[in-house]
Amino acid sequence: MSDLTPRLHAGAPLRLEERFASRAGGMQASEIRSLFAVASRPEIVSLAGGMPNLSALPMDVMASLVHDLISRNGAEALQYGNGQGLPKLREQICEVMALEGIHANADDIIVTTGSQQALDLISRIFIDPGDVVLVEAPSYVGALGTFKQYEAQVVHVELDNQGLVPEALRQAIKSVRSSGRKIKFLYLIPNYQNPSGVLLSADRRTEILEICRSESIFVVEDNPYGLLGFDVPSPNAMRSEDSENVIYLGSFSKTIAPGLRVGWALVPSSLKEKIVIASESSILCPSNFTQMTISNYLADQPWRDQIATFCGLYKVRRDAMLESLETHFPASATWTKPGGGFYVWVNLPPEIDTKAMMPKAIVAKVAYVPGTAFYADGFGTWAMRLSYCHPTPERIREGVKALAGVVKTEIARRNGNFELKS
Ligand code: PMP
Repeated sequence: MSDLTPRLHAGAPLRLEERFASRAGGMQASEIRSLFAVASRPEIVSLAGGMPNLSALPMDVMASLVHDLISRNGAEALQYGNGQGLPKLREQICEVMALEGIHANADDIIVTTGSQQALDLISRIFIDPGDVVLVEAPSYVGALGTFKQYEAQVVHVELDNQGLVPEALRQAIKSVRSSGRKIKFLYLIPNYQNPSGVLLSADRRTEILEICRSESIFVVEDNPYGLLGFDVPSPNAMRSEDSENVIYLGSFSKTIAPGLRVGWALVPSSLKEKIVIASESSILCPSNFTQMTISNYLADQPWRDQIATFCGLYKVRRDAMLESLETHFPASATWTKPGGGFYVWVNLPPEIDTKAMMPKAIVAKVAYVPGTAFYADGFGTWAMRLSYCHPTPERIREGVKALAGVVKTEIARRNGNFELKS
């Protein structure tokens, strides 16, 4: 036996669960992921997933863009890049953000592998186990999953039709602080929120920024849907009012294509170094290939027109969904009326459990996401998220009608009226 051979230690071998780090205990498939397999069957109308609709993306243009990139610049595109992201793309990102009133320095941008990676990096540098992250009630399932993996305690703050309620935020801060816990940041999605579709009003943006600044709580403004307003332009981004206390997350997933996996974080200068180091240790650098694809697309293609095309496509689907809800859903249900984005949030009578109802919806060939997926604490049993981004308007009408039948039957069953068929 050589000196390099590890010696066996006495004691029973560890079981697999004991070999995992304790934080792996918080890693569970999201409710959405397990739903995808069922919801993606062709006979099911999926109002579940939030996949961008790429039918309007000019694939011939994308194909020749990728072809030209590799044939002219392949050696750079297929090489490692730098950890912060390509300088040219970061300049172009500044132009994109200017549409929402942001005046940024390209040096404060870190390009990430989708904004999901930015959520991971921020969580990694801020959250110790037991720290509190404040989020809207309900909030984005992918962010909740990340916060959970870093063992944060997620505290939900009331959201109404105007967005996060400032008074509820004040109360939440007070009550968390009085219990001796540390609040690391407020995470919110001000534009066409996932999952509710709600838009945060301009007045509340200012008020929430003031509260967080005075309490020394960072605001993480996650904004993948900001340019997807159908009716009126969204208010300016919160970052446009505060460059010191807002960490802004952007993404090309909904305005170009999610498969390229390019997003970014615009951060206060004091945070940049740590975030770049954290990113380098997880991915070395974002992909040069997809960054250059996006950069060339932004340089040569009418991307603003393409966003307008996407908005038109989503607007007819939003209209189809709202009209069908109005026509078919029972009077006891209420729902949000989004001015953009992908989602409608539906509240059913409190006795309805949307998770338990899901198998019946699948039999009726329609899928949705139960409300509990968007809460860290099991809340939301009577709610559901419907997304209108992907199916055709006809399929949306068909799906909402079928779902209304399931809901009405469930309400009747709960009320002891077994006669009602749909
Ligand atoms: N934030 C929100 C609110 C989202 O809805 C999504 C995707 N559904 C993301 C972040 C992640 O997007 P990506 O990583 O594709 O940029």
